[in-house]
Amino acid sequence: MPTPLALNPALEFIPSYQPGRPIEDVARELGLPPTDIIKLASNENPLGPSRLALAAMRRALKQANLYPDGNAFYLKQKLARQLGVAPANLIFGNGSNEIIEFIGHALLASDAEVIVSQYCFAVYPIVTALFQATLVTVPARDYGHDLPAMLAAITPRTRVIFVANPNNPTGTHVDADTLRRFVDAVPENVLLALDEAYIEFLDHPLNLLAEIASGLRPNVLLMRTFSKVYGLAGLRLGYGVGHPNLIAALEKIRQPFNINALSQAGAIGALEDTAHVEKTRRNNARGLRWFARRFRQLKLEYIPSAANFVLVRVGDGQRVFAGMQKLGVIVRPMGGYQLGEWIRISVGTPKENRRGLAALIQVLAPV
Ligand SMILES: *Cc1c(COP(=O)(O)O)cnc(C)c1O
Repeated sequence: MPTPLALNPALEFIPSYQPGRPIEDVARELGLPPTDIIKLASNENPLGPSRLALAAMRRALKQANLYPDGNAFYLKQKLARQLGVAPANLIFGNGSNEIIEFIGHALLASDAEVIVSQYCFAVYPIVTALFQATLVTVPARDYGHDLPAMLAAITPRTRVIFVANPNNPTGTHVDADTLRRFVDAVPENVLLALDEAYIEFLDHPLNLLAEIASGLRPNVLLMRTFSKVYGLAGLRLGYGVGHPNLIAALEKIRQPFNINALSQAGAIGALEDTAHVEKTRRNNARGLRWFARRFRQLKLEYIPSAANFVLVRVGDGQRVFAGMQKLGVIVRPMGGYQLGEWIRISVGTPKENRRGLAALIQVLAPV
């Protein structure tokens, strides 16, 4: 029965986000203990959270009766120092997903256009639709961003360009020089939202922090997260780095206590644990090389990845996803991204990677 409520008409056209399936969900469905199941579906850190983060959160628990610091003072100070920016350059979100939504509130309305690449992160189209703006999707080149074509798509109505580097779900990336030329070419009245959720996995990332700190990039917002290399996806913490004027505008949209006390404490601990970050990067680089080697041996097409996951072409992605899931390995089908022949596998521990690949081989084996 249709609801009698006068809902926001935009809701009808909003695609819904399909997250990776939680381990507990699949365990219930298969009647297996959760410990028998591995999840290589959401690009989480397979090494877990840092021990320093856990210890800091345990200490913070005792004050759970108090509201968190709405300005996340200590976390902001610490992060600003580590990045070499001012606290006024930073805004925190409940996941960087919330930063994407702030952008919508700040810049989008029904007369606005938003430029994205084909195979872009699913949240950009969702937020664009939420604000009834027009999505302009630029065809990908070799599964990655075609930056010149994205520039050419700018019109007087363009308000935001989203670029994820590395990109999810393809794992493609653009090199630092190419990206810099693009950043220079985006007109000042268009916000370049540069999604750097996976930047910590790059060996030679473009570093725009100094330019942002000196006020030279008023139309660039970097978006980063504690969900990936820092291993804190369950806490929901992301941040934006931008010009103080842009940050001040976004701060008006942010709800006062969007970052809870445990997240603030955990993130401070995680920032101190540089060894954990290094270990995560090493495990990831090894895992990527291992998957690439095995895919080549198996003659499976894959997209070379700069992130912590890899796309591999398996034929019927939905069937392979379901088959692997029956074997206790959760990966991500890509039909929602118009990549129905592919699945996305997050890099796990070496043991998880072996189990994931064994499941894939078993599902692909001729019957
Ligand atoms: C994982 C991811 C994020 C981070 O999301 P959070 O809300 O911070 O967990 C942002 N952008 C992309 C492209 C991602 O893949």
